Amino acid sequence: MEEKLVYIDGEFYKKSEAKVSVFDHGFLYGDGVFEGIRVYNGKIFKCKEHVDRLYQAAKAIYMEIPISKEEMIEALKKTCRVNNIKDGYIRLVVSRGVGDLGLSPTKCPKPTIVIIADSIVLYPQEMYEKGMKVITASTRRNSPQCLDPQIKSLNYLNNILAKIEANMAGVPEAIMLTQDGYVTECTGDNIFIVKDGELITPPVYLGALDGITRRTVMKLAKDLGIPVYEKVFTLFNLYNADECFFTGTAAEVIAVTEVDGRKIGNGEVGPITKKLMEEFKKLTLVDGVDIYD
Ligand code: PMP
Repeated sequence: MEEKLVYIDGEFYKKSEAKVSVFDHGFLYGDGVFEGIRVYNGKIFKCKEHVDRLYQAAKAIYMEIPISKEEMIEALKKTCRVNNIKDGYIRLVVSRGVGDLGLSPTKCPKPTIVIIADSIVLYPQEMYEKGMKVITASTRRNSPQCLDPQIKSLNYLNNILAKIEANMAGVPEAIMLTQDGYVTECTGDNIFIVKDGELITPPVYLGALDGITRRTVMKLAKDLGIPVYEKVFTLFNLYNADECFFTGTAAEVIAVTEVDGRKIGNGEVGPITKKLMEEFKKLTLVDGVDIYD
């Protein structure tokens, strides 16, 4: 198999030779932003939404991305084409760039842009059919007053600490709470519950990423006539929900059938979750920016 090619600042390098400086503040401080994007059927799913979110995150951290959004989309398409990725995952990273050892970004004249396109398998198919068991992490999600989770930054240590708790509990994901104990999101996914036919997800201002899959699923649900609410809820509400599922670019839509040893509903993938999984799958095949256009 031929080595994959990685885009770095406008050039392509073989995977084994794709390197950035150890003086890049992305490496030294986690200073930068990123996106994870799916390619389905030769089309970049929700391409504009991901690029918009990246530029918004960059703005929030006071970083100017040195190419336009249109150029960025062309670079994403080209990276898929040169690697013949028609179904896969794109990791787009923009770090603060090379500077000195100090924290100050003023010493970093130009952000580094990296695009990796590769295949992806996240969870086994069986998990999509039967749902997953998860835990609540004791590590609280970063508060928006400290580092707003709406900024998809390279600083993922908060999520990684919760992920380690999941690993130690032998489950694939962990639910995170706010400082006040409200359910907010997971280490790499948003969370939804279904109660009495209504779909509920925590508001992003609570401290969650404004997930693109989240937004997509909310729209699909509304189109199906399912009432959708962004509402604060607790673990009590979660344990007593009829259904629960996670959404994310990598995970897509996946049912959660057990949280902290409590069965959710009857412990099987619920009917609303199943319907939304199907509708989401259908949408991925038709929506998106063609990599050959
Ligand atoms: N929350 C966090 C912390 C994430 O890292 C992700 C994955 N990007 C999500 C939620 C889901 O967002 P999206 O649907 O845009 O992938």
